[in-house]
Order: sequence, then structure tokens, then C-alpha cells
Amino acid sequence: MTLKVGVIGTGAIGQEHIARLHGKLAGSRVVAVNDIDERAARAASVRLCPGASVHKSAQALIDDPSVDAVVVTSWGPSHEEFVLASIASGKPVFCEKPLATTAEACRRIVEAEMARGRHLVQVGFMRRYDPGYRMLKETITSGAIGAPLMLHCAHRNPTVPAHYVGDMGITDTFIHEIDVLRWLIDDDYVSAQVIKPRRTRHAPGTLEDPYLVLLQTREGVVIDTEVFVNCQFGYDIQCQVVGEDGTASLPEPASVPLRRASQASRAILMDWKLRFIDSYDVELQEWIEATAAGRVTGPTAWDGYFAAVTSDACVEAKSTGRIVPIRAMDKPGFYM
Ligand code: NAP
Repeated sequence: MTLKVGVIGTGAIGQEHIARLHGKLAGSRVVAVNDIDERAARAASVRLCPGASVHKSAQALIDDPSVDAVVVTSWGPSHEEFVLASIASGKPVFCEKPLATTAEACRRIVEAEMARGRHLVQVGFMRRYDPGYRMLKETITSGAIGAPLMLHCAHRNPTVPAHYVGDMGITDTFIHEIDVLRWLIDDDYVSAQVIKPRRTRHAPGTLEDPYLVLLQTREGVVIDTEVFVNCQFGYDIQCQVVGEDGTASLPEPASVPLRRASQASRAILMDWKLRFIDSYDVELQEWIEATAAGRVTGPTAWDGYFAAVTSDACVEAKSTGRIVPIRAMDKPGFYM
């Protein structure tokens, strides 16, 4: 069976996902596209999925009977509307992160999906598909290092563009750790704190950079993550899990060790897209197969909701300097 997909939002990641779903991956093709800029949608259709319908509205795409499943890659504030409309039409929907821009909006999606009585929503947290994180999770689950006690993590970008402002270090950057770390240790967060060192001279405008986010989990694990988005030297993702019997770390991306001119060195990636490029392929291939089988096997609407609640608490902790409790609604049996 070929899954016929409609894509809403033909910007940067929308175009990349169209290319994956229409030719690169097995079992799907893109039959419809929509963008708020109709010319951009038409150009994407011509270039990436010739013959796909170009719909004037996202709702028309969702209603199109030739569309089996929907992919939402428009900007964050539009996600809630399109995910709710897909649920209302009973169509599976893959939504790029964030599921929605507020925890309340994510909660509405969770409630709509439960009312519909079928798992339909998957959120684009692609780090769960990175082979390194998957190996690390297997190691933890095997019991090789005993129960996890602490995690030391870092999310470093070389630089950020001028439009990266305010709390984007949490809502756009740290959000990936929020999801992948609770999946990694199968635990939930109960509190957040943010500690700020002196500001780097490389931070643009009024951006606060770097800072340390401390999360405590229900089981008592303490997680520290350095968020440093103008570190200059590379896109550098670190994660070390300290357990009762040993430590386990996220593998470095493969690179050639060099010895020359009296120096030993390895290259560090500068571009985040390259670091997780393969994860997007695995993520969407698994989504195609699960969707064709009528299942959701990836991050759920509940995961999107929990990430939003945690992100809100981190933003509050960053502005107040206080330890902020993370209070989510009780996890419904539907998502167990
Ligand atoms: P982008 O290049 O700005 O693309 C967003 C596209 O959606 C633009 O073409 C935009 O049109 C269009 N759009 C906005 N509102 C719309 C609406 N109401 N209906 C239909 N189309 C609409 O942004 P992007 O970088 O591709 O990011 C898109 C989403 O993917 C974001 O939520 C982002 O956080 C997420 N993302 C996730 C990852 C990941 O690693 N998982 C990586 C990158 C992006 P205009 O340009 O005319 O506004």
C-alpha cells in the first residue's frame, strides 16, 4: 500500500519532508500541498512532487479524499488548528515540533484525540530516531550502568541568526532535550531551575546566553543541560548518563581522527541539519509504516503536551530565578 500524504507548509523543513515522502522513502507519495503563500506551494509541487494538487486552504487539503494522512510543517502558531482539523476528519497527522505553542493548546489536542478514540497524532521529535540516542537508551535499559542518577548534557550551536531572540533557547533549542531525555530514561520531570553565568560577548542584542537548565525527575534523577547557542566552535550535542555502576555517553558523530603538523584533531560539525539528517529519514519511514498499519509508534500528542508544560516551567524559571514545579495533568490511560 502507498500512503498518500498531504503536506501543509512548504517552507524549509516542509520541502525536505516532501522530498523524503515523495521518492526518497518507501511506501508514500505526496498527493497534495498547501502553504499560506500559494505560489510557494505551487513551486514546491512542481519541483518536488509533480502532479500533486495545490490547495487554497489547509482545510481543503485535509478534506481532500485522496489524502490518507497529513504532515504539518507550517509555522508553530498554526499547528493547533491543522492538527485539530485532521483529528476531526479522522486522518493521521504528523506535526513538526512544537505540537502547539502553548500547553493549553496541546491539552486541547490531547482531549480531541481521546474524544475521537483513536491514536492519530505524532510529533516531530526526531532525536528519538538518532542511532546514538537509541544505542544509549539500549545501554541504560540493559541495566549495564545501574539506575540513572544524574545526566550531564550540552546543547551548543556555533551562532544563531538575528531573529533568534527571547526564550528561543528553551522553546526552540532545549525543547529537543526536554523530549529526548525523558524518553531516554523513561521518567517525567517535576521541577525546573535556570542558572545564568556571565553572558558571552558573542550573544547578539539582548539575548541571554549561555545558561544552565536543571531538571529534577519523579524518580529523583537530576539533569543539568548547558544551553549555549553562540559557542563559536561547532554544533555540539553532549549527553552523559551517570548511573549507580558506571557512566554511558552519547556517541560522537563519526569523523576521521587527524594527526598532522604536531597536532591530533577531529572535525566538529557546524550545521545542526547534518548532525541529525539521518534521523529525519528513519523518523518518517517509521511513521509511514506505522500509519499504514493504523498505529502511532513515535512521540504522541501526550509527549507534545508534556514538552510544552516543561518548556513553560523552564521559561518561568529563567525569568524568575526560582525553582518552578512542573505540573501536568495526570497521564490519561489512553496514552499509557
Ligand atoms: P519556514 O521555513 O518558515 O516554513 C514554514 C512554512 O509554513 C512557510 O512556508 C510559511 O509561509 C508556511 N505557513 C505559515 N503559516 C501557514 C498557514 N497558516 N498555512 C499554511 N502554511 C503556513 O519554517 P521551518 O523551518 O520549515 O519550520 C516549520 C516548522 O518545523 C516549525 O514548527 C519548526 O519548529 C519545525 N522544525 C522542526 C525541526 C526539527 O528538527 N524537528 C527543524 C526545523 C523546523 P510564510 O513563509 O509565508 O510564513
